[in-house]
Amino acid sequence: MTRALAFDNSYARLPGRFYHRQPPAKVAEPRLIALNDALARRLGLDPDALRQPGWIAAFGGNAVPEGAAPLAQAYAGHQFGGWVPQLGDGRALLLGELVAPDGGRFDLQLKGSGPTPFSRRGDGRAAIGPVIREYIVSEAMAALGVPTTRALAAVTTGEPVWRETALPGAVLTRVAASHIRVGTFQYFAARNDVEALGLLTDHVIARHYPDADGPLGLIHAVTAAQARLIAHWMSLGFIHGVMNTDNMAVSGETIDYGPCAFMDGYDPRKVFSSIDQFGRYAYSNQPQVALWNLAQFASCLIPLMGDEDTAIAAATEAINGFTTVYEGEWLRRFGARIGLAEATTDDAALIQRLLGLMADQGADFTRTFRGLAEGMAAAEFADPTAFDGWARDWRDRLATEEAPDEIMRAANPAVIPRNHRVEEAIAAATGGDFAPFDRLARVLSTPFDLAPEDAPYTLAPTDDQVVRRTFCGT
Ligand code: AMP
Ligand code: MG
Ligand code: MG
Repeated sequence: MTRALAFDNSYARLPGRFYHRQPPAKVAEPRLIALNDALARRLGLDPDALRQPGWIAAFGGNAVPEGAAPLAQAYAGHQFGGWVPQLGDGRALLLGELVAPDGGRFDLQLKGSGPTPFSRRGDGRAAIGPVIREYIVSEAMAALGVPTTRALAAVTTGEPVWRETALPGAVLTRVAASHIRVGTFQYFAARNDVEALGLLTDHVIARHYPDADGPLGLIHAVTAAQARLIAHWMSLGFIHGVMNTDNMAVSGETIDYGPCAFMDGYDPRKVFSSIDQFGRYAYSNQPQVALWNLAQFASCLIPLMGDEDTAIAAATEAINGFTTVYEGEWLRRFGARIGLAEATTDDAALIQRLLGLMADQGADFTRTFRGLAEGMAAAEFADPTAFDGWARDWRDRLATEEAPDEIMRAANPAVIPRNHRVEEAIAAATGGDFAPFDRLARVLSTPFDLAPEDAPYTLAPTDDQVVRRTFCGT
């Protein structure tokens, strides 16, 4: 390690009931399988130094970087609507907060770093598959411009983890604005710990929303951030898959890449997660679920807001602001996808008509939008007649636009992390071959700008490549 790290562990200065302090578990033989040079530089770290044995040991949990104060965070949450009073980091540890050269503050977290008091029946470990999945998908989201936790490094541990079979163990080093969740607030609200709620509220305002005025201001700010985030997901065909309240970060970043997936063919009812039996977290349900989660968040803050009836009325009004922000963002993002600089509510009907046709025929979500600027979208429809009719109206509408092609190229990615590609990378890595993972990660780092030799990554899966189910795969 070339210089003392700029750790400043503000969460660790909160009272002891917010976390459990402990070092990571040691592993047999940490081996670096991925390092994110660009993110390292963003954090003010030297990528070459991160490739040295000292840092590889730290990424595996065998050494604790100077200035770190490792701890497992306490939180609770609603899982599929059912209340769980204690969850917490069961296989992750917050190492500390790095302050980047520009002053930005980032949590550095190990995921798969051994059991904690919050592990319940889990082993505290991560298998290589979910680590590869989170690395690929979270970095693809970042490259697509979506607020998200990031992946700094991944190591294999040289030890097996037992799932249905023995799999190579791995640890992901995750970077986030913070790991504070709706479930963190719920943990203290459920214990009637109003003092802790106040401290947590102040901490989150100082860290993420310095302009927010008290708890009500925080509800407004978190609501708007989530509304923007979910609209962004929707515009890319992203399905989170486990939108439990413990998997919703108050920072407004996407967090917890479990059974998440991008849609191939458009189907608003689409569900991938094997554990989402009733489709609670289906694509089209995501905005309502976010709003439900925000209602849980707001209810935690009521005890800090004075007279209860007045507080409830103000909090309700604040979370109802979700719809306005969401609809505005939805229109702006989908408008850009069809080349409109400023979509109006009249344009919403045009966008919905296209989505309706795509749903009828299961047209590929990413290829259809990308194909619009290239005159290739009709090819995504088995019966292009209806699409041709839509396209005539669309071209009429574009007549008053100045640079629709530029807008579309900036809004419509050529590549997304398609499930069959992610599965291919995981299968190879599980067998010790990291070449497909490396290449996929590289292709996804510039999703709007594709090298000609990477064209195969734009293809939809063939019938025998389609992935129908994803697994939480801990
Ligand atoms: P998730 O489904 O990833 O949101 O995790 C839900 C809860 O289960 C969190 O408290 C996790 O820390 C915990 N958990 C998930 N996998 C494991 C594991 N392998 N060992 C211990 N705890 C786990
Ligand atoms: Mg989680
Ligand atoms: Mg998870």
